[in-house]
Amino acid sequence: MRILITGGAGFLGSHLCDRFLADGHTVIAMDNLITGSAANIAHLAGHERFRFIKHDVTDYIYVEGALDAILHFASPASPVDYLELPIQTLKVGALGTHKALGLARATGARFLLASTSEVYGDPQIHPQPESYYGHVNPIGPRGVYDEAKRFAEAMTMAYHRSHGVATRIVRIFNTYGPRMRLRDGRVVPNFIQQALRGEPLTVYGDGAQTRSFQYVDDLVEGITRLLWSDEVEPVNIGNPAESTVLAFAEAINALTGNPAGVVFRDLRTRDDPQVRQPDIARARRVLGWQPQIDLAEGLRRTIPWFRDALRRRGELA
Ligand code: UDP
Repeated sequence: MRILITGGAGFLGSHLCDRFLADGHTVIAMDNLITGSAANIAHLAGHERFRFIKHDVTDYIYVEGALDAILHFASPASPVDYLELPIQTLKVGALGTHKALGLARATGARFLLASTSEVYGDPQIHPQPESYYGHVNPIGPRGVYDEAKRFAEAMTMAYHRSHGVATRIVRIFNTYGPRMRLRDGRVVPNFIQQALRGEPLTVYGDGAQTRSFQYVDDLVEGITRLLWSDEVEPVNIGNPAESTVLAFAEAINALTGNPAGVVFRDLRTRDDPQVRQPDIARARRVLGWQPQIDLAEGLRRTIPWFRDALRRRGELA
């Protein structure tokens, strides 16, 4: 198969490139490198079935030759990033999704949209099943991301219904692993770097808000199964093991032997969802998927990557 991955130089996109190449496919990664990084795909340079195109997918997308699948992963995804890049975030979710769907229609490729648990907003139903319509503030700080992804889902379903495009929608819950940007501001990179430097971990608010963290390899497996399935309805892919942010900080301090504890920081400007946990009954049923890697194992695979990255930058002895 010949597969296009938009956002292919990002955290998730680059792991998908690796997976589809390992499965024997040809992969074209497209990225404008605003939040993606060439370093994430540097190891693929020269691979005979891999190609990189630097392009902003909010502009008309042209790819030579046939395509069997398009995975649309281009977007800022960290709250810090999309607060800094609100218009780009809206454009890539809206215009970028439209362009990528147009290419899918023209080439007959199947299309998979990277959607998000943020479509549920600050949820009033817990855990969140795909049937929940969500509780989103359109004009709040997160609205640029949440509404862009909600629009992207609507556009995807419109192309499916009006043009018969074979579409898939994955709603991705908090995911971590190697290749997260050191400065992307999300909780996993922040906490791991703080712990490795022996600094206190910055817990926002009182740390009672919850998240459910999945290791990137579990997500990649779920996305691969969804892409080759017939499921048109959105599918949550996440690890239901829920934890408060404070308990998560304590787990990282314990794993790294960091004696510096935590400090509490003001949360008010973030518009943070108070709870988040995926209901994965649909993924279990239609994909036979469930996460395999627990938090301790996932962190054991992630922390050494951050240690190496900090050492390469001369920021850690
Ligand atoms: N968080 C924190 N300290 C940090 C960064 C994040 O306590 O240094 C909290 C944040 O307030 C949120 C959770 O960790 O409740 C996850 O934040 P993240 O930015 O990773 O993604 P979100 O799930 O909010 O999209």
